[in-house]
Amino acid sequence: MSIYSDILKKYWGYDSFRPLQEDIIRSVADEGKDTLGLLPTGGGKSIIFQVPAMAKEGVCIVITPLIALMKDQVENLKRKNINAVAVFSGMTQMEILSAFDSCIFGETKFLYISPERLSTPLFLEKLQRIKVSILAVDEAHCISQWGYDFRPSYLKIAEIRDLLPEVPVLALTATATKEVAEDIQEKLRFKEKNLFQKSFERKNLIYIVRNVKDKENYMLKILNAQPGTGIVYVRNRKRTKEAAEFLQSQGITADYFHAGLTQEWKDYRQTQWKSGKTRVICSTNAFGMGIDKPDVRCVIHLDLPDSAEAYFQEAGRAGRDEKKAYAVLLYNQDDIASLKRNLTNSFPEKKYIRQVYNALGNYLQIPIGSSQGAMFPFRMYDFAMKYNFNQAQLLSAMKILQRNGYIETTDEVSSKAKVMFLISRMDLYKFQVANSGYDYFIKLLLRHGEGIINNYVEIDEDLLARSERCKVEVIYSYLNKLASQKIISYIPKNSTPYLIYTLGRIDEKNLVIKPETYELLKEKYEARINAMIKYCLNGEVCRSKQLISYFGQTDVCDCGECDVCRSKKEKFSDAENFDKIFDLIYQTVKKSPISLEDILAKIGSYKTDFVKDILKKMIDDSVLILKDDGLMYAGEI
Ligand code: ADP
Ligand code: MG
Repeated sequence: MSIYSDILKKYWGYDSFRPLQEDIIRSVADEGKDTLGLLPTGGGKSIIFQVPAMAKEGVCIVITPLIALMKDQVENLKRKNINAVAVFSGMTQMEILSAFDSCIFGETKFLYISPERLSTPLFLEKLQRIKVSILAVDEAHCISQWGYDFRPSYLKIAEIRDLLPEVPVLALTATATKEVAEDIQEKLRFKEKNLFQKSFERKNLIYIVRNVKDKENYMLKILNAQPGTGIVYVRNRKRTKEAAEFLQSQGITADYFHAGLTQEWKDYRQTQWKSGKTRVICSTNAFGMGIDKPDVRCVIHLDLPDSAEAYFQEAGRAGRDEKKAYAVLLYNQDDIASLKRNLTNSFPEKKYIRQVYNALGNYLQIPIGSSQGAMFPFRMYDFAMKYNFNQAQLLSAMKILQRNGYIETTDEVSSKAKVMFLISRMDLYKFQVANSGYDYFIKLLLRHGEGIINNYVEIDEDLLARSERCKVEVIYSYLNKLASQKIISYIPKNSTPYLIYTLGRIDEKNLVIKPETYELLKEKYEARINAMIKYCLNGEVCRSKQLISYFGQTDVCDCGECDVCRSKKEKFSDAENFDKIFDLIYQTVKKSPISLEDILAKIGSYKTDFVKDILKKMIDDSVLILKDDGLMYAGEI
């Protein structure tokens, strides 16, 4: 038993590693090599950095793009009695400082940090005092411009490497073409190329593609035939609700999910689905990343995703338990057209991008030349409404601005309300005496602990209202009054995405949109869309083979189960049957002439269409002769 398997058993309770997990761990931890691990979704990438980090001294820094995911992992580690902290935009300065300090002094083993925090002076300063064991980069494809989910702040990881020359990088991702895998290693400044790649083959996953008009009913048919949990992916928020309601009306427990729901709703729906109370969740692509439900029996796409990478990732959420599962893609001509329309929406004209940039500055009231590094709470919807921007195009324009390093956005950060007293204990006492109306409320706050005198402490306004049997507005009013007198600092609870001005605001005329962030990407995007369309239309090659070879892997056999393989098998067995049926028909007709209906009834055990085809061929070849009395007579062979 290695030290790594001991740790795996001790903290995770697993008996053995899955293929490649230990090889990757050894490469980075024993040999100290920069390592890229390419494992499919659900392959178990998290423990690949978590296990060696437990074996080594120091803190493992983990970079991952989604804050929700980060929080999830930190919670999971804490439940195993492993100390872990997260740092992301939207936390207070105090919280961030305390997280860093616990890395410097404490027993903290994991520092999860969102990429846009990497270049903050505070982090760079603290980093020098943290003993780092491994630099783990999750969802590493985000560093590649060629990837389908490029995030410019990932590029900052390379700069961190300079400060940590001895620390190996462990990069992990589920989706990377050959080109992207190369790019990741280059952008992360690997000392040597070092790639571990698990086959993309998912032997238990059966891929099916169908060209259907009435997709809803086809979905129903699948769900009725295939018991167990499912995910239905659609392209927009409205359709998540429609699909869920349709399923509900057909007696299937279903719910919907998209990024526009409040955090509470998201958590609730996710839990209901995870626990099996909801059987099917209808969702946009917002659902799934980091969600670990092993027994999903089918993933149905009612709309086409815009890349084979995304499709592979989403479909891959079925059957993580390695038992048989289905990935069904339903499409028709309209989908192909709308995918092409998407391309235009994703690359709005440069003039439009400039307009967006300018409007952003005005909306946030930033003077030209200022605000470098500043962070603003930012609601896209409100902004779009105010300036009459089409949401899809606006989002694309902002992404392009991001790629050019002008701005950065974070996903939603929800935080509890926080309070801190700004004056000393003595001054507070004097205030209480002079303002007896506040005395009771101040005591209420002080019950949160003495720490509240000069630290932010989380409070729950609703809970306070309930325990005091008053309206929550009363609590708000006290808090706001105390805040306006500078007795306390009060940060209301919120759930906001943030926008960061990476560079200060410049004049829109000076905005540079580099070809590698526009023209080149447009080409790549087009290629990805075309690959997706090709996957739909190519009924000749095994689906699994098509997907896998897209990721550059060629040594795979036909899966034998997908729609293409199955129809080939049928053809093959039909060829065997052809002679048998041909003979049977000929002998029957030879005995006595017979009508078409009667012969079909006689050979009912075979598929009717197939028998009809054979009959037609026999008539064409004059093996059978159809006479005016409606009966068939045997001809010459
Ligand atoms: P990925 O990030 O590759 O999509 P995760 O790290 O979320 O996958 O892991 C998926 C699931 O597999 C988790 O529940 C994890 O605990 C489990 N898992 C990982 N490694 C093993 C193992 N060696 N044995 C059993 N389960 C494992
Ligand atoms: Mg993961």
